[in-house]
Amino acid sequence: MEKYVRLQKIGEGSFGKAVLVKSTDDGRHYVIKEINISRMSDKERQESRREVAVLANMKHPNIVQYKESFEENGSLYIVMDYCEGGDLFKRINAQKGTLFQEDQILDWFVQICLALKHVHDRKILHRDIKSQNIFLTKDGTVQLGDFGIARVLNSTVELARTCIGTPYYLSPEICENKPYNNKSDIWALGCVLYELCTLKHAFEAGNMKNLVLKIISGSFPPVSLHYSYDLRSLLSQLFKRNPRDRPSVNSILEKGFLAKRIEKFLSPQLIAEEFCLKTFSKFGPQPVQGKRPASGQGASPFVPAQKITKPAAKYGVPLTYKKYGDKKLLEKKTPPKHKQAHQIPVKKMNSGEERKKMSEEAAKKRRLEFIEKEKKQKDQIRFLKAEQVKRQEKQRLERINRAREQGWRNVLRAGGSGEVKTSLSLNTKRPDSLCFPSAGIKGFLFWQWRCCLSITLFSSRPI
Ligand code: ADP
Ligand code: MG
Repeated sequence: MEKYVRLQKIGEGSFGKAVLVKSTDDGRHYVIKEINISRMSDKERQESRREVAVLANMKHPNIVQYKESFEENGSLYIVMDYCEGGDLFKRINAQKGTLFQEDQILDWFVQICLALKHVHDRKILHRDIKSQNIFLTKDGTVQLGDFGIARVLNSTVELARTCIGTPYYLSPEICENKPYNNKSDIWALGCVLYELCTLKHAFEAGNMKNLVLKIISGSFPPVSLHYSYDLRSLLSQLFKRNPRDRPSVNSILEKGFLAKRIEKFLSPQLIAEEFCLKTFSKFGPQPVQGKRPASGQGASPFVPAQKITKPAAKYGVPLTYKKYGDKKLLEKKTPPKHKQAHQIPVKKMNSGEERKKMSEEAAKKRRLEFIEKEKKQKDQIRFLKAEQVKRQEKQRLERINRAREQGWRNVLRAGGSGEVKTSLSLNTKRPDSLCFPSAGIKGFLFWQWRCCLSITLFSSRPI
């Protein structure tokens, strides 16, 4: 801590203090987050160190840059860049009811998405997306902050944080006590977009119980019709109750009205890097896996990043280069002599005109190629989705049939004399009053229906 001079406390967050400091090394301002880790177990502390090391290695123009971290007197200190423009929450309040222009909203939103893409592609979750964690730099760039800090904390602290902190961004699955996953970040992203459009929270209530009920119901007051259909429809996609129905950050960025803004914020080289065909483990780039990793129960926290094929081409970055010495390319195409004689003299254009025409044609060709490619990709995705639905339906029917068969087998084994025993591990508690045959065939059929229902519910849990 001797490397930094404390200037002032700028906030007391749910994790601990945030202090504005000045570095004695480079004279720059930084923010230091102070987190009390004295009550953590050794294992949790190790985990925290690993997490913070990963965060410190992340570098992106739309992410608050982590500088370093260290431990002193039972506290973990995370040093990061200071964002002079303050946070989006304050910026929204400063509007005093005047709505933002759509252009402004989309420019900010794209930058938030680019930051989240960078993180999700590396299989890290943010876990605390809110307008208070999105900052503006001096030059108006948006930066997402407080990455993964929630991961550093143990679950007890995290739970407390949810109760003490800002519950407006809780997703339906968290309200239902299901695991946090990448789509929970997407829900919170939706909450931020909504806030930018209305200057209000999407889900508000007088108490926690009513808030949770509102979130679970998924209904929110509509945003102004002044905003485009694209924007309003995106909001409803982000607020899908089932996490699997929400788009990934990659597919959000693929939407035309957002994709065209990307080049404003990332250099062509960064676009090529960020949209390359790789996902990252915490330890570096990994080739994209064709298959989803086998998931345990419930939602898998890490859904593989969606692939974008040749995205660089999409944003006008050349992907192929002519090789020097490639004979075919260097050969001048001269028509055979007999053809030369019949050639019609071509009207000479001046070189400026010619170049303009050529570049227009090339652009047109690229556009057409891109549309064609996108169409092919969409067709392929549609086909794959249909195949998947077919497969799932088949599996579901097989499971139901198996359960039915098992039920009958048990009935026959019991010989109609007593309780039906089932080897299936279903959540269905069979009430005694429904024991076959005491409750009669109706009771048994009802129990079977419950079995099928619970299998269906189980198979529809997010993976
Ligand atoms: P919270 O849990 O509310 O996110 P934090 O400890 O992260 O609390 O932040 C407390 C305050 O410090 C907030 O008002 C936030 O705007 C401000 N703050 C946090 N980090 C930065 C930063 N890097 N630059 C500028 N202000 C920051
Ligand atoms: Mg914060």
